[in-house]
Amino acid sequence: MKFIDSKFMRDICNVTKQSYDNGWDERNGGNISIRITEDGKHADLYWGYEDGAKPTSEFPTHLMSHIARLKTDKNQRVVMHCHPTNFIAMSFTQTLDEKRLSRILWKMQAESLVVFPEGIGVIPYMTPGTNEIGEATAAKMSEFKVVMWPHHGIFAVGSDPDETFGLIETVEKAALIFTTIQAQGGNILQDITNEELKELAQAFGVTANSKFLK
Ligand SMILES: [Zn+2]
Repeated sequence: MKFIDSKFMRDICNVTKQSYDNGWDERNGGNISIRITEDGKHADLYWGYEDGAKPTSEFPTHLMSHIARLKTDKNQRVVMHCHPTNFIAMSFTQTLDEKRLSRILWKMQAESLVVFPEGIGVIPYMTPGTNEIGEATAAKMSEFKVVMWPHHGIFAVGSDPDETFGLIETVEKAALIFTTIQAQGGNILQDITNEELKELAQAFGVTANSKFLK
């Protein structure tokens, strides 16, 4: 296989196994794609799809997300989708506001702002597997590496499978801390301040989304 090195294939196996073990890919949930460096004019089948199996129903979202992300960062060749439990739960209990959700996740741990300084994009609840949800997700992907599918899951992009999965893990860890705070009564006595968020960005050399910092 000349277009993808074997490390990429091994990494796909590793992250999909980890995602399943984390409970984020129940039954046949979740999917991952890598944009290979072909000319984009044809597709070759290298492995799988025996017995009439078909690609994921989220294929349109993967393709459209790759197209959108290629314009923003051509090194980001991986799109991954799965069902992180605490992140999905927040789509029921919190208003679906990108700034509000991003700030909550940023403030749950110092790592968040460093790993996803753009914040997260959010689309309305839509029927999965449709072109419409693909178009809505891709529109967000031009600005964000993470898109919430309310009541369903997450779409994330990265330069390789490990980085992409690490991004999802970081978002879900922040959501888990948020859930745990609620379980402890929800009364926050102190947190990472706005000033400290700015200091984090400066210290780690990332550009935080200025619309969400205020
Ligand atoms: Zn799904």
